[in-house]
Amino acid sequence: MPLYEYVCSGCGTRFEVLQRVGMGASETTCPQCGGREVAKQHSTFASAIAGAGGSGTMPCGASSASSCGGGGFS
Ligand SMILES: [Zn+2]
Repeated sequence: MPLYEYVCSGCGTRFEVLQRVGMGASETTCPQCGGREVAKQHSTFASAIAGAGGSGTMPCGASSASSCGGGGFS
C-alpha cells in the first residue's frame, strides 16, 4: 500500500497517509486541524519508482538500495 504525503493548506502541517490506490485527496483530512484542503506531495514510494527510470539524481543509489523501494514502510 503506497504511502502518500500531504500538506495541509490550512495550517501547513505535513502528514503521511497510507492509502489504497484510487483514494483521492478529497477523502483525506488534516490530522491537526481537520481541514480538507490538503495537497498531495510526492510520496517516498512514488519517488522511488520515478527515480528508477527518471533523472538518476535520486539518492536511491548503490549505497542505499536496501532501504529504497524495499517496502519497509509498514
Ligand atoms: Zn491542517
